[in-house]
Order: sequence, then C-alpha cells, then structure tokens
Amino acid sequence: MFGSNGKAKMDGINILAKSSSNEPHTVYFGTNKGKIVISCDCQAGIHRQLCKHKIALAAGDKAMLYDVAQENDLTTILSWIKKTKISDLLAELNVALHAETEAKERVSKLKKKIGNVMNEGMAISE
Ligand SMILES: [Zn+2]
Repeated sequence: MFGSNGKAKMDGINILAKSSSNEPHTVYFGTNKGKIVISCDCQAGIHRQLCKHKIALAAGDKAMLYDVAQENDLTTILSWIKKTKISDLLAELNVALHAETEAKERVSKLKKKIGNVMNEGMAISE
C-alpha cells in the first residue's frame, strides 16, 4: 500500500508534488472508515483550500510527480478516487474552467471592440 518514497501514515499515501520552489509539497491521501481525505502542505493547503497539487494528483497528472518512482502510488490513489465522486467533480471543474476561459476571451474581445467604437465613432442609425 505504501510506496518506497511515500512516507506511510495510517491508511494513507504521501505523494511528493512539484512546487514552484525546489522543495516539493507533500500531498496526503488518507483513507479512513470508507472515506478518502486529501491534504497538502503548501500555503493554500495549510488553510484547507483546494490547491493545484491536490487537483493535479487527484486527476492523475504524472507531470505533477516530484519523484517518478511514485507512479505506482499515484495509480493506487487513482483506484481509490475513481470509486468516489471526486473524478466527476474534477471533470465538471474542467468544463467550467474551459467555459471561464472562453468567457474571459469574449469579454476581452468585446471590451476591445467597444473601446474602438467609442474612440473611432460609430454611425447613428436613422
Ligand atoms: Zn498544495
């Protein structure tokens, strides 16, 4: 259950996640009484906020692994996560993020267009 590099806690796996600094963050995937909890020791994670490390690893993103030797650990936690609603919620988040990106682009284009019209002038229809 525990990987060679994941420090074992009770019924859980620690996975080291890449960070913006050289020091990796530790994301803990713990199971207890049929539930899975995921925590991270990064700044956001300390405040119990959802961070990019939790999201990436829960989604199975190998690029987030600090140590490639933990691929097996990632496979194990994914087998747990797939049996929860977290996978569905992450998929829903991706759809929402995509929509957000599109909306932001649309807002930006419209503002540019309106700004140009206001600067250059536009015909008043009869
Ligand atoms: Zn984090």
